[in-house]
Amino acid sequence: MDQTTIIALAYLVAAVLFILGLKGLTHPRTAVRGNLLGALGMLVAVLATLIHHDVVGYTLIIVGLVIGGLIGAVVAVKIEMTAMPELVALFNGFGGGASVFVAGAELTRRRAYDTMAGAGWGAPVFDDSMIAAFLAGLIGAVTFWGSLLAFCKLREFQKFKKPWLFPGMQSLNVGLAVLCAALLAASLMSPAPAMMFWTLVVIASVLGWFLVNPIGGADMPVVIALLNSYSGLAACATGFVLSNSVLIIAGSLVGASGLILTNIMCKAMNRSLGNVLFGVLAPGEADATADEVYGGRVKATSAEEVAMLYDNARRAVIVPGYGMAVAQAQHAVRDLGDLLESRGVEVEYAVHPVAGRMPGHMNVLLAEAEGPYEKLKEMDAINPSFAQTDVVLVIGANDVVNPFARDPRSAIGGMPILDVDKARTVVVVKRSLSPGFAGIPNPLFAADNCLMFFADGKKAMLDLIAALKEA
Ligand code: NDP
Repeated sequence: MDQTTIIALAYLVAAVLFILGLKGLTHPRTAVRGNLLGALGMLVAVLATLIHHDVVGYTLIIVGLVIGGLIGAVVAVKIEMTAMPELVALFNGFGGGASVFVAGAELTRRRAYDTMAGAGWGAPVFDDSMIAAFLAGLIGAVTFWGSLLAFCKLREFQKFKKPWLFPGMQSLNVGLAVLCAALLAASLMSPAPAMMFWTLVVIASVLGWFLVNPIGGADMPVVIALLNSYSGLAACATGFVLSNSVLIIAGSLVGASGLILTNIMCKAMNRSLGNVLFGVLAPGEADATADEVYGGRVKATSAEEVAMLYDNARRAVIVPGYGMAVAQAQHAVRDLGDLLESRGVEVEYAVHPVAGRMPGHMNVLLAEAEGPYEKLKEMDAINPSFAQTDVVLVIGANDVVNPFARDPRSAIGGMPILDVDKARTVVVVKRSLSPGFAGIPNPLFAADNCLMFFADGKKAMLDLIAALKEA
């Protein structure tokens, strides 16, 4: 068997492993195996590509591996679990950035080769992989700069979290998009494609930044999923430039799964993609100030009081949110659920599709704590049962249980929420009355059937478990 056949077969094996990996990731029970299969596929693909080293020598590859590996290892060790969503956004961006540089380098290399072969720098050359290179540059640059801004918004850098609004912002975006399309068309017969390529990259970079600029608040999950899809599409285009089948397959898988996720997130937010991309995050007309919403109506509670509520409860629901991730309270939450069940209380966990800071954030944390998968209920499945629930414990969730979302004039208007306010009693665990990611007050906290348990999520769970055991 010659080397080309071995490489082609290895790529085929890698592609099959990617698909099996993705299938495994569709269920928490098989997710770890799915992840391992995907990683194995990547290892096979990388090894096969390394055999195929006709362009770059091993020295450069090893230098790249050492530098990249070191940076990756330091980041992986240092990163706090709560900063994972930002890191994922950054990784999407790096994928896009890498596609830009690989496509740009390949374009320059081919051009140099054409010159040596006598075509000359001035001669317009149409090469069908050139359009792929330009697409990789365009999508990659949009992804890189868009993801960088998404990172800043998720990290809650105040300067970037709020959109920078100015008259004609949407027209500017349309203008930049038209300019990119024109450059893409002109590039096909350009005598200086490398220059054209980098011009396109600069314009696409500005476009990427301004496309993500007006998006924020509850719409962020859609953008994260979309940027993830873009990074896959950029890699796929780069695969065509390099004629590398495994890159084409891996890129299409990321692109397609990112688009499916975008669609799921849009449905979760009850928004169309166009509305998210071309709408502007504006302060909601219906959102009152914190003083108007809370003024003298908030009731605080304690672990002992909540333990007494559970004494008389038959059905309880736990609603995790971003604060559970911050407090790293998932194990304590699972222990509380187990304890309640052992006392004959029926317990379920309600997971909102955009709870946390990345798609599937709560599912991942509860799976890590080995929570019972069959008790994790999606929003549509659990909402009708809140009216028959004795105690709902909301831990670190805010926007996803904010009744303001039912008012279309609110900043989060239209976003479906978990109807926890319909339960007999709601206990909200959080440290203060400060708002969630969308930055608006939550009338739930002032509702008659709501008690606020002000504490760090993990401490609150441990105190509650101790109080239940003492009772
Ligand atoms: P929110 O961001 O609305 O609220 C989180 C709450 O957790 C805060 O009010 C905070 O209150 C509390 N909290 C923080 N730390 C702790 C702690 N240590 N212990 C207890 N509580 C704590 O979270 P939700 O999950 O309800 O909603 C997610 C929001 O993020 C939505 O607006 C969503 O659109 C957005 N988003 C989601 C993404 C996704 O993909 N899932 C991506 C990007 C954004 P306090 O400080 O008082 O404790």
